Amino acid sequence: MTGASAPAAPTGLVWHELYAWHNTGNYALVAPYGFPVQPGEHAENPETKRRIRNLLDATGLLKRLLAIEPREATDEELLRVHSREYLDRLRAHQDDLAWPVGNTAVIGRGSLAIAMLAAGGCIEAVDAVLDRRARNAYALVRPPGHHAKRDDGMGFCIFCNAAIAGMHALEVRGLDRIAFVDWDVHHGNGTQEAFWTDPRALTISVHQDRCFPPDSGLMGERGGGGGLGYNINIPLPPGSGNGAYEAVFDRVVRPALNRFKPQMIIVPSGFDAGGWDPLGRMMLSSSAFRSLTRKLLEAADELCDGRLVMTHEGGYSAATVPFLALAVIETMCGISSGVDDPFQPMVDGFGQQQLQPHQEAIVLAAERLLPGLD
Ligand SMILES: [Zn+2]
Repeated sequence: MTGASAPAAPTGLVWHELYAWHNTGNYALVAPYGFPVQPGEHAENPETKRRIRNLLDATGLLKRLLAIEPREATDEELLRVHSREYLDRLRAHQDDLAWPVGNTAVIGRGSLAIAMLAAGGCIEAVDAVLDRRARNAYALVRPPGHHAKRDDGMGFCIFCNAAIAGMHALEVRGLDRIAFVDWDVHHGNGTQEAFWTDPRALTISVHQDRCFPPDSGLMGERGGGGGLGYNINIPLPPGSGNGAYEAVFDRVVRPALNRFKPQMIIVPSGFDAGGWDPLGRMMLSSSAFRSLTRKLLEAADELCDGRLVMTHEGGYSAATVPFLALAVIETMCGISSGVDDPFQPMVDGFGQQQLQPHQEAIVLAAERLLPGLD
């Protein structure tokens, strides 16, 4: 995967226990509690992330990874993507017990510092890869980021972590071209917005058609000004499975990367396209995540010296998400933990896992966007 003579650097992992201390309160899934909604557990709770870290620990893989220490992002780093007014507003409310930010995001006491630690963790992952301390890196951060807008939080996200890390690569580390490949089941609207007119970034989002945000992520959203053509949305129909995603990656994502020639690939990585997720209606299994990761690693190896950073986004099925993440991280580091995903056979056996005609129509339409990159 890297140079033949020197031993390959390890895969990096960003994690901090404080990521699990961000408190989203007692919503019921995504609904604020209060009659008639019985208080429950917020979909974006710590378990889906902490259990990934725990499975890496239990399988022995954790000690084979390079621990990348996160730090809080600075105001200067946050302001490359967000407005001063938004940051001031967050600071004014940072001691509130639970305060809604925008549409469906929540901060609790201490959450602002944790959100800054999440954004800073993604920056550190980029630095570790650019400095070759890590061959590639997975930033297991929380809260997630890819819905956060310039002026507001959205969809459980406070800061647009991946975009902030990408801006760091461009503005501080001197890269000229970076590509985002967002496989979270929801549209990466925050990353799209951050680079809408910026031809230095190719933003690709593969997601469920109009799942969240509503009416966002359509194929006609292609960027503006100098960035026209450098935003590619592939809104797949609900029910898409391994075959549809394989086709999208082979026929749209990889050719787009080949044309754009990024110097680094950043993957806003959600596992809510998994077959058991409560907030998505897709059918990906761990075998699919393994295969898609392999395709991205091959692209990174051939185009940008293996530079690949994943930043954690959604994924809400606490029992199954850790096995999807294990498949991705095993593939990134080239080490098998020897642990099988107990949920994989059933998901792989779901009907219509192969590319279906109505999904093929979307792939064909997305292929027509590729000349926009020339
Ligand atoms: Zn999501």
